[in-house]
Amino acid sequence: MQTKMLINGKMVKGAGEALDVLNPASGDVIGAICEASPEQIEAATQSAAEAFDTFASTTPTERAAMLLQIADVIEAHSQELADLESLDVGKPWPSAHDDEMPLTIDVFRFFAGAARTMMGSAAGEYVAGHTSMIRRDPVGPVAAIAPWNYPLMMASWKLAAPIAAGCPVVLKPSEITPLSTLRLAELLQDILPKGVLNVIHGRGPTVGDALINSPEMEAITVTGSPATGMAAMRAASQQIRHVHLELGGKAPVIVFEDADIEAVAETIRYGSYFNAGQDCAQPCRVMVADGVYDKLVAAIQDQVSQIQIGAPKSEGTEMGPLVSASQRDSVAGFVERARGQTEIVTGGSAGDGGGFFYQPTVIANVDNNAEIACTEIFGPVVTVSRFSDEDEALRIANTGNYGLASSVWTRDVGRAMHMTSKLRYGFTWVNTHGVATPEMPWAAMKGSGTGSDMSVYALDAYTAIRHVMVAH
Ligand code: NAD
Repeated sequence: MQTKMLINGKMVKGAGEALDVLNPASGDVIGAICEASPEQIEAATQSAAEAFDTFASTTPTERAAMLLQIADVIEAHSQELADLESLDVGKPWPSAHDDEMPLTIDVFRFFAGAARTMMGSAAGEYVAGHTSMIRRDPVGPVAAIAPWNYPLMMASWKLAAPIAAGCPVVLKPSEITPLSTLRLAELLQDILPKGVLNVIHGRGPTVGDALINSPEMEAITVTGSPATGMAAMRAASQQIRHVHLELGGKAPVIVFEDADIEAVAETIRYGSYFNAGQDCAQPCRVMVADGVYDKLVAAIQDQVSQIQIGAPKSEGTEMGPLVSASQRDSVAGFVERARGQTEIVTGGSAGDGGGFFYQPTVIANVDNNAEIACTEIFGPVVTVSRFSDEDEALRIANTGNYGLASSVWTRDVGRAMHMTSKLRYGFTWVNTHGVATPEMPWAAMKGSGTGSDMSVYALDAYTAIRHVMVAH
């Protein structure tokens, strides 16, 4: 197990407090990793600042070559990295390896191309005797904060775009799932120039807070909870920094009478309980037209009650444990508070054994204003509620603070186009849910964040638009 951090081109042991790393499938301690000390955090941010001038001057071709090398090295170590991810987060092995690794790798390959295709307005004489041109330059060293649900994939989203743009990064993975990112740092130390990547380990309120408030960091990017997003905005406001936030979600799944009910139920089975439901785009808030409500509840019950939970490496495991005891207890709290006013169709209690398991749970007859329908649970729980027409569905879905993922299920193209134009979410799928590709933005609206990860639009967070005018 690689437990050192990458600071200024060297792998170093943390000089701060030792934090236990747990196996969520058993609850056992599998190791302890020391946090970065204040001096080490400063060394990392200074290293990124010192690397900036030289790295910002590299050509897109040079940065593309580094990104392609990164993709290759992750691919060559995908088995080992997926093993660490599965152990640290409790993911079923096929999910960690077959589902997550290809997108993690492809994000670097996409940004290798994107680095070379940045676009802007045409140069020209907008004032007589003066030629204007637009430059799109790297914004500066970036403080990047990642969550625990997809540690390596989120690290790839936090690294590929700034590196493509020419920005050095100081990355902090979640303190509860650092293993794959620390190993990635070791794998990348010889690919990236000294200081372009620094990885530091530690808790949010200590190491994370020092990082986002560092005077050396000129942009902050966070994937995490709304509370951490607010901390980043407060930090940015003290120094006027660029901020990019990908925060929580509560994805509505809006099902009309003409939808393919079996397809919806299968999507719930494979999408809502993937990663034990710990997914910001999780299809978790099923809203159903009155006419097909009973049929859909029965179809979802049938699918979800078949889900096999178990240890990440056991044959046939579809869903593993939650990441921590506190996450499991938080999920259980939501279910307990809803019990009595709703119908627990399946699940509704913790799983067996010493790990942090919770049963795949479906809760029907949910009031659209109930806590369980409106607040992100971030666990294996799906709610089902009713609506009567398009206007009501839109009103319910657009109420509240979240604006990340959503989906609409209908065979009527006109209705689908109307719904997609009116939903206030960063992304909306029609007749599917959860399919991601690096060419398209993982975009956030409202309380779910600002800007996007993946796609050429991600480069906006790491580049500054500049005007150069030449009089002649
Ligand atoms: P979290 O906010 O608790 O932690 C995320 C990261 O922020 C961790 O590295 C943590 O150490 C750090 N952090 C916490 N407090 C901080 C502070 N004051 N200053 C600086 N850093 C701080 O979130 P989590 O529990 O790890 O992840 C779950 C959340 O992330 C959910 O809300 C989920 O929806 C969201 N998420 C969003 C996306 C997306 O793309 N929008 C993707 C994955 C997860």
